Amino acid sequence: MKPYRELTKEELVQLKTELEAKYKEAQAKDLHLDMSRGKPSADQLDLSMPMLDVLNSESDLKDSTGLDCRNYGVLDGLKDAKALLAGMTGVSPENVIVYGNASLNIMYDTVARAMLHGIMGHTPWCRLDKVKFLCPVPGYDRHFAITESFGIEMINIPMTVTGPDMDMVEELVQKDPAVKGIWCVPKYSNPQGITYSEETVRRFAALKPAAEDFRIFWDNAYCVHHLYDDKQDEIPEILSECVKAGNPDMVFEFCSTSKISFPGSGISCIATSENNLKDIKKQMTIQTIGHDKINQLRHVRFFKDIDGIKAHMQKHAAILRPKFEAVLDILERELGGLEIGSWVRPNGGYFISFDALEGCAKAIVAKCKEAGVVMTGAGATYPYHNDPKDSNIRIAPSFPTPEDLAAAAELFVLCVKLVSVEKLLE
Ligand code: PLP
Repeated sequence: MKPYRELTKEELVQLKTELEAKYKEAQAKDLHLDMSRGKPSADQLDLSMPMLDVLNSESDLKDSTGLDCRNYGVLDGLKDAKALLAGMTGVSPENVIVYGNASLNIMYDTVARAMLHGIMGHTPWCRLDKVKFLCPVPGYDRHFAITESFGIEMINIPMTVTGPDMDMVEELVQKDPAVKGIWCVPKYSNPQGITYSEETVRRFAALKPAAEDFRIFWDNAYCVHHLYDDKQDEIPEILSECVKAGNPDMVFEFCSTSKISFPGSGISCIATSENNLKDIKKQMTIQTIGHDKINQLRHVRFFKDIDGIKAHMQKHAAILRPKFEAVLDILERELGGLEIGSWVRPNGGYFISFDALEGCAKAIVAKCKEAGVVMTGAGATYPYHNDPKDSNIRIAPSFPTPEDLAAAAELFVLCVKLVSVEKLLE
C-alpha cells in the first residue's frame, strides 16, 4: 500500500471523505468496548481457581520447615515462597524478602524509605535540594506516579529495541549525583513488550554512578509472561551481574504473581543484596510483624516450583496469544505500508505499543472514545502525562473477548487513518 505521505492533496481529501463515512457507520454501531485495561480476562483468572481449594479447614497449615502459618512469625517470608519467587527471577532465595499481595506497594515503600530514612546510612532524599529519576519512555504510568508524588524530578530516556538508550543513562548517572534511580521493566516492558539485550543488562550492572545511593529499580513484572513456547526472551540475572561488575548493592528487583494467580491477591517480593536486605529489614520490622503467610503457603502448594509456574503460564499464553495476534494482524493488514504508525510485535507481556504520527495520539484516543472504544489515555506512558511528541498509545488486548477485541481494533485503525489524513492535510 502506498504511504499516505505520497498521496496528493486531492487523494487525501477523497480518502478523508471515505474514512469519515466509515467512521459514521462505526459510530452508529453504538460500541462499548475497552482496550485500556492491562488485566487478565475472567477465563485467565479461572485457571487459578483450583488454588482456592488447596487449603481448607482440614489442611495442615505448617510449611515445610514446620512453621505454623496461622500464627505470627517470619518477617521476610516462608522459605518455600522465597524459593518460588526466586525461581521466577533467577536470583538466590537468600536475596529475597517476600512481601504482601502485590509489588507496586513494595516499590512505593522503597522510594518512601529512601526519602524518609535514606539508603544504607546515606542522607535521606527528602533532605536534598534535588532528587532525579531516569524514566525510560514510554513506560509504566504507576512508576512515574510514585516518583512524581514525592516531588522527584523525572528525566525521559528514550527506549530503543534493545532497552533504554544506555549512552544517555551512563552519562546522566555518572555526571549527576542528584540522579538517584531509574525505573526499568527489563523483560516484555510495559508498554512496548521490549526485552533488554544482554549488552544493555551488562551496561546497567557496570554503571558508575556519581551517587553512592543510586539504585536501579528493576521491575521484573513480566519475567515469566511469555506468549510463545518457541520464542521466549531471556535476560541475564541482574543481581549476579551487579556482583560481577563490583556493584553488589546497586539494584532493587521486584516481582509478583499478579497476572499469574490473582492480581491484587498474589504474593510479591523484593530481591537485593545482603546489605540492602539488612537495611530494609531494620525498617520493615517496625512496619509489620509479617505478611500473609497463608497466601504464601497457598501459592507454594498450588504451583510447587518454577516448573509449576511455567506450566501455568503456558495456559495463560494459550488464552492471550490469539488476542495479541488478532490485534497485530489487524494493525499489519490495515496500516502496513501506510507509514502512519509503528509498533513492535512482542513475544510476551501484556501490551502492544503504537506510535502514531507526531501530534496525533490524543486525537486518535478521543476519536476512539467518541465511537465507543476506550483506550489508555494518550500521554499516560510518559512522566507527568506529557508525551512530547503526542505519539504513543498503549493497547491492552488481554481483557476483552476476542470478538470485542477485533471490533475495537478495527475501529482503532480507522481512527488512526482518519486522524493521520487530517494531520497530513493541515
Ligand atoms: N509493574 C509493571 C511494569 C506493571 O505493568 C504492573 C501492572 O500492570 C505492575 C508492576 C503491578 O504489579 P503488582 O500487581 O504486583 O503491584
